[in-house]
Amino acid sequence: MNAIVGLSYLVLKTELAPRQRDHVSRIQSSAHDLLAIINDILDFSKIEAGKVEVESIPFDLDRVLTSVTDTLSGKAAEKDLEMHFQVAADVPRALAGDAMRLGQVLLNLVGNAVKFTDKGDVVVSVEIVSRSGPTAQLRFSVRDTGLGITKEECDRLFEPFVQADNSTTRRFGGSGLGLAISKQLVELMGGTISLQSTPGVGSTFTFTVTVGLPEQTGQLVRMVPMDLRGMRVLVVDDNPIARIILRASLEAMSFAVATVSSGPEAIEKLAAARPPFELVLLDWRMPGMDGLETARRIKAHPALSRVPRMVLLTAYDCEEVVRRAEGLDLDGLLPKPVNDSVLFDAIVDAFGRDAASAPRAQTAASPDGHPRAALAGARVLLVEDNKLNQMVGQALLEGLGLTVEIAENGQQAITMIEAERDHFDAVLMDLQMPVMDGYAATRALRELPGTAGLPIVAVTANALPSERERCLQAGMNDYVPKPIDPDRLRVVLERWVQPRGAPAPSAASYPGDASQVLPASPHRGEADAQSASGEGLPEILPGVDTGVALRRLMGNRDLLVRLLRQFASEHANDPEHIRVSLARGDLEAARAAVHRLKGVAGNLAAQQVFASAALLESALREGAPAPFEAQLDDLANAMKLVTQSVASLAVST
Ligand code: ADP
Repeated sequence: MNAIVGLSYLVLKTELAPRQRDHVSRIQSSAHDLLAIINDILDFSKIEAGKVEVESIPFDLDRVLTSVTDTLSGKAAEKDLEMHFQVAADVPRALAGDAMRLGQVLLNLVGNAVKFTDKGDVVVSVEIVSRSGPTAQLRFSVRDTGLGITKEECDRLFEPFVQADNSTTRRFGGSGLGLAISKQLVELMGGTISLQSTPGVGSTFTFTVTVGLPEQTGQLVRMVPMDLRGMRVLVVDDNPIARIILRASLEAMSFAVATVSSGPEAIEKLAAARPPFELVLLDWRMPGMDGLETARRIKAHPALSRVPRMVLLTAYDCEEVVRRAEGLDLDGLLPKPVNDSVLFDAIVDAFGRDAASAPRAQTAASPDGHPRAALAGARVLLVEDNKLNQMVGQALLEGLGLTVEIAENGQQAITMIEAERDHFDAVLMDLQMPVMDGYAATRALRELPGTAGLPIVAVTANALPSERERCLQAGMNDYVPKPIDPDRLRVVLERWVQPRGAPAPSAASYPGDASQVLPASPHRGEADAQSASGEGLPEILPGVDTGVALRRLMGNRDLLVRLLRQFASEHANDPEHIRVSLARGDLEAARAAVHRLKGVAGNLAAQQVFASAALLESALREGAPAPFEAQLDDLANAMKLVTQSVASLAVST
């Protein structure tokens, strides 16, 4: 697959006759379809074999929902479907669980909803079913107004390789595995999945999952500024579902809400309102008078003594609206579907207050967040045993302007790097190779003096979190999945490779997550002199969210390394001590130690330790029945991950 995807990409970059271009494009898109099916099958067999574990780490629910829309809003837009999120007000946004797997299930269900619906809406709702101590059951549902499914078909669809009718594959593609995988994942997350559908009307897929409720850390609590509380807000949207959802969200934020379904009604309502409305949320796409035109007329209306603040909800094609909104001086633009945190930020922003966090609408516009470094002229060592893959890799890398040398296996790579320490700017490392594999080679390279700063990027066919973690633990900095996607490869290399003679890349930044972008260290020269250890801090450190930690430490990498070392040396044995205290029946000592550990771990963004300590602490507090073996094991494992990471720092610095 690597060869097919990579070579067809390269052929498409050459000059071709139209017919040839068409044929190669088809090869490429068929390869992508086939790849999706292979990935489904692999995923499914891994689950069947009991090889998939779900993790429990803190995540932000709104982000999971946003990532689903980021992927699917383009497709929904093409079909003129409207997507909505309806998250009940009492659902905590800070949760602990497996965000990636939850996202995978949602992506599959929402993807199907969009695929099998031609007209109408797709609504994703989240509500809380029950809480018990440190955990809660959440219910997600994905409702569409599409084709629907007959009763007989409903019962079979969660079985592998089943599609509703035989023409489905021909019309829509797919493998019939998505729902089987979703069912298994949901069960692994402690829930169940079900389906209700009426042919010709639509379908609703509902699933539950068990999530952890870490103690609120503060940053997700939204406080409406005093002077905005109770203010009057008018919602203008032709879509009845959007009106209901927006009203509920706004009322939960304390606002007094009225809704209308068109521009002319809005103008009439505003002109007659006593006291006046202070804020108008305007949908852009409305039949007749659209949101922009409505805003224009509101601004020019003679009977409005005070023009309210106006925030425009743009459906999909944001760029066009942004262009057309220029000169209108609106107080905000929000892409739909909105979630509560984005809505809240936009409102607070519209009134010039400091939002609790930066509006996502803006961060989404610059997903990379940092200026692109040129790759031209950098030297890369490609370590790969397969001849075809060598050819593809070399061509892809050369296409990015890099100079490429090839090693057949890990042993040869070490010899080449040892021969000339400063020669290479990065290593692209295959994992499975004869003589010496990628892990062993990386570990050996990390022992060589003078190569701590050499970026090593794994090329892995295995996208499981455990595999990624193994790469990072071996000392690699990053990974790209196989078959190599050229754009992904470019992004990863740009993150790591410094153009010759330029300063090092700044701190951790992830594509699609601009909030992780950190301020660059202003004086690299000085930093070099003072902080040899800080420079060796890898971007990804298993067990520690370095992005979060560094933001807390104002980007001081050196300090973070010191604090982590101290943390490891002072707290590595805490889980054992806590175990002993509990065995002795000294609950008080155990509780105090867990609490202390949680606090320090939280500060250093040692997320798993923090989450496990929080869960253990709640269990102790609520007098859950002893023993606390499972929680203690989790805590010990989480702690071990961090101490191993810190130990790897010691080697490389
Ligand atoms: P795939 O989409 O790859 O075919 P899935 O397991 O996700 O596999 O779905 C199996 C089948 O269930 C689909 O092929 C389709 O026939 C039916 N299906 C799933 N979701 C919907 C939906 N929202 N509306 C109508 N049919 C659906």
